[in-house]
Amino acid sequence: MPNSAPSADVVIVGGGPAGLTAAAEAARAGAHVVVLERRTEDTHSRAGVIQPRVLELLDARGLMGRFRAAAGRWRPDFEVPRYMYAGLSGLRYDQLDSKFPYALILPQMTTEHLLAEWALDQGVDFRRGVTYTGHTAHADRVTVAALDAGGAPVELTAPYLVGADGARSLVRAAAGIPFEGHPTRMTAVAVDADLAFPWQASMRMRRNEHGWVLAYPFGRGTTRFIIVAEHRRHVPKTEPVTIPEVRESLRLIFGTDFDITTARWLSRYGDAHLRVPAFRSGRVLLVGEATRVHYPASGIGMNYCIQDAFNLGWKLGRAATGQAPDALLDTYHDERHPVLEALMDDVAAQCALHFDFSPGGLALKDFVERELVPVPEVNAVLRDRLSGFGTSYHRASDPHRADGTRVDDFPVDPGTSYVEVAKDAGFVLVDTTGGRALPAAITTTRVGVLPRELAGATTALIRPDAYVARAWDVRPTDEEVLDAHRAALCLATAEPHPSAVGR
Ligand SMILES: Cc1cc2nc3c(=O)[nH]c(=O)nc-3n(C[C@H](O)[C@H](O)[C@H](O)COP(=O)(O)OP(=O)(O)OC[C@H]3O[C@@H](n4cnc5c(N)ncnc54)[C@H](O)[C@@H]3O)c2cc1C
Repeated sequence: MPNSAPSADVVIVGGGPAGLTAAAEAARAGAHVVVLERRTEDTHSRAGVIQPRVLELLDARGLMGRFRAAAGRWRPDFEVPRYMYAGLSGLRYDQLDSKFPYALILPQMTTEHLLAEWALDQGVDFRRGVTYTGHTAHADRVTVAALDAGGAPVELTAPYLVGADGARSLVRAAAGIPFEGHPTRMTAVAVDADLAFPWQASMRMRRNEHGWVLAYPFGRGTTRFIIVAEHRRHVPKTEPVTIPEVRESLRLIFGTDFDITTARWLSRYGDAHLRVPAFRSGRVLLVGEATRVHYPASGIGMNYCIQDAFNLGWKLGRAATGQAPDALLDTYHDERHPVLEALMDDVAAQCALHFDFSPGGLALKDFVERELVPVPEVNAVLRDRLSGFGTSYHRASDPHRADGTRVDDFPVDPGTSYVEVAKDAGFVLVDTTGGRALPAAITTTRVGVLPRELAGATTALIRPDAYVARAWDVRPTDEEVLDAHRAALCLATAEPHPSAVGR
């Protein structure tokens, strides 16, 4: 007999960055969420950088104190104000109009610990050592089959199943969602190494006809090297990386092997470029690398996965608990799939430039880096792509030009700030025009002046994921605000759902 398990509103397979973020956000909206994670141990950190938009989103949950403290324990200079694009230097994150004009260096393992802590704070039932094996989808629910750490069968039933189980997603396969694109064509190498003479310099890059190397101190005395070696690009992913291979590539490209003594982690990864055509199939949704795999160009992969999860989480929590109709979940695909398409195109463009080590390719890189990247408008376009600031959910049919745009922190009355209000709220109405008597599902806040991004609006309704649901130039009536709230939840009726909770 399978172990009986309590029913949940949502079952999420995969406790990586995407699954944990979606879980915390759905639980925050009132859902009972179970996360199944087959690992009981940490894996070695792949991602090493959190990008500015994700920092803003974590800030809107009151988490940045924890993340900065953890980063500081890892290394003192954890803020990276100058970044790279396609292996070229010169991106001015320090010119971003944000509380976070930098990328934050933090190993993925620590990011996952902090996200797990947050998910547990929200009441998520996080079960480690449990492996999903399959599911059966019904009209109104999904039955999930898994094995616990001892190999005993577990069965759970929930209105929604989310596959956050990474690039080789079994949930995706079981749901019959295709994965389209090209497999690995070339490989590169990542190494975390100890050096005989620990290196204090911050991020450095070098390129020539033999390839490209990025090196940066990765905390606790180690240095991370990312190496694209021209003469080793054909090597299959399955071939183990050796220290002599790393030394040889470093000597060819950097002119020194840095006296590597030991390697704590050696990994060969590829440029497979695959994506799903749809983020959902009925009651099964996918998030994170279950929806895509691409070359980890410029350290953005995990960051886009987390942003997807922020978009999905608040909708999932509300749809799974009857606060919003199922149609709200379609907007996850509608808003984030175009972002995925743009990301994949951008990664392909970065790879084309990055991996061309011919004389012409090197000359083009020199030209772009020296002549184009410093041009402020070019710099802004490129950094918007990586930082996440370029994402907007604005549609041509939206009534206000600020609808769908991102919101950063700004002062609100009395002497507090938007993120202080948002961390305990769902929808937030920021209003320069006077008092309101709105239901608890909308937290109302007086504000002296709205930030520049809101394009002169007097009042704005901000979604739980810190994007504008609706802005107004002239004070809206309470009924107009309620209509905008219902529209953002895909609720057609005049009354908000009676079970709508306060956040
Ligand atoms: C070398 C390298 C460097 C990178 N550097 C960066 C970087 O600097 N910045 C960046 O943003 N991104 C980077 N990335 C990408 C980043 O690591 C991924 O985008 C990120 O891990 C995706 O998160 P996820 O939660 O979607 O999937 P994953 O992290 O893969 O998590 C999926 C989880 O599902 C679990 N799981 C799988 N199957 C099952 C099952 N059947 N039952 C239960 N659990 C299951 C797995 O154990 C895993 O914990 C890098 C990637 C590589 C390879």
